[in-house]
Amino acid sequence: MRELWVVSARLGIDPTDDCRPPLACATGVGQKLGVVPRHAVLLHSPVDAVELRDPSGWGDAVGLLVNAGASCDDAASTITWFIGERGPSLVLMPSNIWWDDVACRIAAQLEANASVGCIGWCVDSDGQTEFLRPVYEGRVLARDGLKEGSCIVTLGAEAHEGSPAVEDSSFNGDFLSAPEDLTSPRLALVDRYRTDSRLVDIDESDVVVAGGRGVGGGDGFDLLQRLAGVLGGTVAGSRIAVDNGWVSRDRQVGQTGKTVSPRLYLACGISGSSHHLLGMKDSQHIFALNTDADSPMVSVAEASVVGRCSEYLSAMIDELEHRRQGVDA
Ligand SMILES: Cc1cc2nc3c(=O)[nH]c(=O)nc-3n(C[C@H](O)[C@H](O)[C@H](O)COP(=O)(O)OP(=O)(O)OC[C@H]3O[C@@H](n4cnc5c(N)ncnc54)[C@H](O)[C@@H]3O)c2cc1C
Repeated sequence: MRELWVVSARLGIDPTDDCRPPLACATGVGQKLGVVPRHAVLLHSPVDAVELRDPSGWGDAVGLLVNAGASCDDAASTITWFIGERGPSLVLMPSNIWWDDVACRIAAQLEANASVGCIGWCVDSDGQTEFLRPVYEGRVLARDGLKEGSCIVTLGAEAHEGSPAVEDSSFNGDFLSAPEDLTSPRLALVDRYRTDSRLVDIDESDVVVAGGRGVGGGDGFDLLQRLAGVLGGTVAGSRIAVDNGWVSRDRQVGQTGKTVSPRLYLACGISGSSHHLLGMKDSQHIFALNTDADSPMVSVAEASVVGRCSEYLSAMIDELEHRRQGVDA
């Protein structure tokens, strides 16, 4: 074992939030491996370190300077360069969506191993150090041993539970800057495309235009598709609409379908049975189009039009297209 480092960040985030799990683990793992761990903190500039406390208590922290954008890609390139410079064989980092992404990018660049989302560590019967990683929604704990080369491990809050509190110290370390070309973003916006709303999953869309029996058939669903296109949304359906083959099964909302909570849910010709409401009641705004003013969907809707789909859908599309042309002009 050459070196054990913990890398955390100060990218507008208080480092004490996230970095305690890997710091706590590093203290124990360091003792087991007979090495003194070190702490590196990603910073935009040395000025960011002015009031920074180092919660490791180890002293001699290092500030790793990363460019102002600090995308996952920038952070991964900077840390990869740093690993190349200092040669740690074990790097521990916090676990969350951002850090897990960074860890995988580093591992890909180094052709190293990444164990993401670990909850602790242990020593196996041969005295080898292993990190514990929940799989199958936590039903099984995988044990990732240390391999040749560098190992990148991210650790979540559970890894910190029960660890003794550490006295933090003010940050008084060196600052390291990776070469410019490493920190330049590798991702660039090349062009913008409007996503084909027919391909977007209903639980990922901000606007869901849903139809039920009252839409009347495939032609009615073509109108819903046009409406969804104008609104930048996607089409869904009640179980009746799915059973009739007007919309595919992966677009069914409700108890036996998907649960959605878009910003806007437009329910057209859907009565609002409890089975359906279960799948969309948490939508931010609900709009209903229905011939029955007393239907449950009209009761839960924030706004509604009482009328026939065939009458109102085309009018709504025309009006929205007209308004959009006005905005685009
Ligand atoms: C165990 C179980 C699980 C279920 N899971 C689901 C599920 O996941 N999702 C789901 O959706 N359902 C589910 N159902 C079925 C559910 O109970 C309802 O039967 C179904 O939601 C009704 O679909 P609907 O609203 O399209 O049709 P209907 O209940 O028939 O309602 C049609 C509505 O359209 C209106 N209407 C009629 N003509 C027009 C027109 N021209 N213009 C405008 N409005 C009009 C009517 O006033 C009415 O309100 C489940 C049922 C069971 C037993």
